[in-house]
Amino acid sequence: MKKLQNFINGEYCEPVNGKYIDNVNPATAEVYAQIPDSSAEDVDNAVRAAHDAFKTWSVTPAGERSRIILNIAAGIEKRMDELVKAETDDNGKPLWLSKETDIPRAASNFHFYATAIEHFASEAHPMEDKAINYTLRQPIGVCACISPWNLPLYLFTWKVAPALAAGNTVVAKPSELTPVTASMLGEICKEAGLPKGVLNILHGFGHTAGAAMTSHPQVKVISFTGGTKTGETIAASVATQFKKLSLEMGGKNPNIIFDDSNLKRAISTSVHSSFRNQGEICLCGSRIFIQKGVYEEFKKGLVEKVSKLKTGDPYEEDNFVGAMVSKNHYEKVLSYIKLAQEEGGKILSGGKAVKPEGRCANGYFIEPTIIEGLPHDCRTNQEEIFGPVVTLQPFDTEEEVIEYANSTKYGLASSVWTENLSRAHRVAGKLHAGIVWINCWMMRDLRTPFGGVKNSGVGREGGFEALKFFTEEKNVCVKI
Ligand code: NAD
Repeated sequence: MKKLQNFINGEYCEPVNGKYIDNVNPATAEVYAQIPDSSAEDVDNAVRAAHDAFKTWSVTPAGERSRIILNIAAGIEKRMDELVKAETDDNGKPLWLSKETDIPRAASNFHFYATAIEHFASEAHPMEDKAINYTLRQPIGVCACISPWNLPLYLFTWKVAPALAAGNTVVAKPSELTPVTASMLGEICKEAGLPKGVLNILHGFGHTAGAAMTSHPQVKVISFTGGTKTGETIAASVATQFKKLSLEMGGKNPNIIFDDSNLKRAISTSVHSSFRNQGEICLCGSRIFIQKGVYEEFKKGLVEKVSKLKTGDPYEEDNFVGAMVSKNHYEKVLSYIKLAQEEGGKILSGGKAVKPEGRCANGYFIEPTIIEGLPHDCRTNQEEIFGPVVTLQPFDTEEEVIEYANSTKYGLASSVWTENLSRAHRVAGKLHAGIVWINCWMMRDLRTPFGGVKNSGVGREGGFEALKFFTEEKNVCVKI
């Protein structure tokens, strides 16, 4: 059985306590690898390596850092097929999706920040003929990057790439549920010429390894993506240490369909915004609000398309929905489907677990599920389910739907479908969300600010926002 190791100071090594955690393929329910159950000692070793490496990496010219990071992007591309398969085996997502989205995006993250750092500049504030101020943006030190399981290498590298490009060193931990591709990244970085200690990759549980990373006194920056509860725990635990903190957390995103929208496009995009990656994308629109004039037509169109979606073996090209990431998560999602029915919801499509034949007979599969008949303020419509479950809710007016859309504690992303230009801009301005898509979903330009408001997040990733986050400003005032 494959036994992963921590990657510390440029070498793969066993956890100090010798303990391992089972790693399960959720499509087959089989344990197929083991990962280190790292402790505070492993974290301390990794942070010390990163702290030492910072002395040279932080003063390595940006052009040289860029060259090495471009090599990492090329290394990911070179091992594309291997990484694609590893991501699917670890997460349960369809192979076609890992190939189309996850792994290419991981390479793009490195490519993007390798080039961005060469264009990153800072401001000057001249005081006429008296003085000139200029802002230095300097790397900060050791950064802890902690990522979730839903887009494993994609989100891991979305943090690691800008942190390294900006001249910091990193101790990073992927989710204990999806550790394999992050583990492979160590080898790729070594081959790319990344100096030892610049990136250290640790495995283990959040409450042990993760907590030791965030509380370590030499860790100056924390970049976290995951659940809101975990974000809360991290923020509370480091509040007195004044670390720089970026939190990307949960969502319960509205997808709003007005009477005058292009219904055909709204329906086909809603299939993806509801069920792509098994609905396990923080940006998925899990609450679909439909204006009454087109409610029945939209519902019919969506149900028709969704009832044809196939769920099962992630290796099979025609399966749109793969496995849920774990037994726990599978049970959680099924419990929400049950709750929705108890709350008075009617299932229009799906609603059940799927037991495919063959190698995936024991896997954790759930049909894409559409529910109607629930009020906007019930638990099903307020709590994050993070699975292949959407609700349909009718509305009359613009004011009413804005109130419903904004009624949760979350505020990550939203979609608005309308052909009325004024309404599109008006509604975009009023939604409590860090991201608004008009007549589309998940169109991502890596230069744009990415993040949420309310309980969905603090801070922004993406573009120069991330390079600003991973650097500290210093004003230098020179008297003329
Ligand atoms: P999670 O919070 O359980 O875990 C995320 C990471 O944090 C894991 O690596 C975990 O080991 C670690 N962790 C857990 N407890 C910790 C602690 N006390 N200290 C330090 N680290 C700790 O989240 P998850 O279940 O892996 O991911 C699903 C969640 O992530 C959903 O809520 C989803 O909306 C959210 N998410 C948000 C975004 C975004 O950009 N806003 C993107 C993807 C996923």
